[in-house]
Amino acid sequence: MTIFEEVKKLVDVPSSARHYGLEVNRSNMVCCPFHSERTPSCKLYDRNFHCFGCGGHGDVISLMQKLFGLTPIEAVSI
Ligand SMILES: [Zn+2]
Repeated sequence: MTIFEEVKKLVDVPSSARHYGLEVNRSNMVCCPFHSERTPSCKLYDRNFHCFGCGGHGDVISLMQKLFGLTPIEAVSI
C-alpha cells in the first residue's frame, strides 16, 4: 500500500475539512475552498468531495493540496 492509499483509508474528508477550519454543515456541505461563494455547494463524502458550483472534485489528499498549496507528499505529512 502506498502512503497515499493509507492516508485515504485512515482519514475521511469531512473530519479533515473540519480539522482545517472549514465549516461543515449538517448535510456535509461546505463553502467551496476553490471558488468564492456564500452558500455551501461543495459536498463532502467520506472518501471524496464534489463542488456543484465549480465542478471541483477530488479526494482528501487533493483537498489538502488545494487548501494549502502543497505537493502530494507534503499533503500526506501534515
Ligand atoms: Zn467550487
